[in-house]
Amino acid sequence: MSEHLPQAVVALDVGGTAVKSLVVDRDGVLHRASTPTRASDGPEQSFAVVLQAVEAALAAVPPTHTAVGVGLAVPGTVDENRGVCVHSENLGWTDLPVRDLVAARTGLPVGFGHDVRAGGLAEWRLGAGRGAEDLAYLSVGTGIAAALVLGGRPVVAGGYVGEVGHGGTTDGDPCACGGRGCPETFASAAAIGRRYTRLTGTPVDGARGVLDRTLQGDRTAELVWAEAVDGLGVLVSDIVRVTGASRVVVGGGLVHAGDALLDPLREHVRRRLTVHRLPEIVPAVLGGTAGAWGSVLLGWRAAGRGDAATVERYAELHRARVTS
Ligand SMILES: [Zn+2]
Repeated sequence: MSEHLPQAVVALDVGGTAVKSLVVDRDGVLHRASTPTRASDGPEQSFAVVLQAVEAALAAVPPTHTAVGVGLAVPGTVDENRGVCVHSENLGWTDLPVRDLVAARTGLPVGFGHDVRAGGLAEWRLGAGRGAEDLAYLSVGTGIAAALVLGGRPVVAGGYVGEVGHGGTTDGDPCACGGRGCPETFASAAAIGRRYTRLTGTPVDGARGVLDRTLQGDRTAELVWAEAVDGLGVLVSDIVRVTGASRVVVGGGLVHAGDALLDPLREHVRRRLTVHRLPEIVPAVLGGTAGAWGSVLLGWRAAGRGDAATVERYAELHRARVTS
């Protein structure tokens, strides 16, 4: 009977451009895949793509194993407590009861969450956030968003927590959210390259290209980079002033800049904080797979197997990989 077979979980991280999926058992990864999201084809199509990706991942569970759960993380405003995607600009979804729909389709328990909070969960349990009771995870990639763990509990707030990439100012460049001067317009990895090109007319290979030019003494590149780091410093110090987070894990594509980002960020935050607890500011270690690993944890938890031993097993696997 199937309950004697080793158990597996399928986990998906749905992004605006690709759906990344992992099939895992407690010893590691059995299968991984990535498929285009086709978000521009509309909400029905993008949801169909997600369902197909879930079914393809389930079909990839080896016959030696039995699937016991599904983990799924998506971008947007996501209320994981209700299992509902409230709104996703990327996917075109509004008030979609994703958890129940996927559970009905697969007959399996579904752990459903937000992509950045799933990434934060993975860094907290398996990566650079391990051991922290009060943690902020700041993802700086195409967009900017934060996940919080306070008092040892992830914060959801109806899906509205951590939208730090938008709002906060009333002037500056227009933003896709309808606001102006949002941090995403000048401090995201995507915005850094875009701003440099707009100011100079010179195409550049994203934030990495701008950083390379700062090392060559390009004054415009230095200005664009410094404004982005200052903007992120404001965000981090605001998050710490409000939450008291003792550790800030910085993830997303921009963290590849390493100390060129983190050193000035630490210095900026140190200058802005006074009576507050000065946080450790550390780079994420799970890279582009953080969201998928967060989904893995959500899937095991939904299956009733999200115990400390499972988490510890994966943490060991990641430590071995990160340190090897
Ligand atoms: Zn905005």
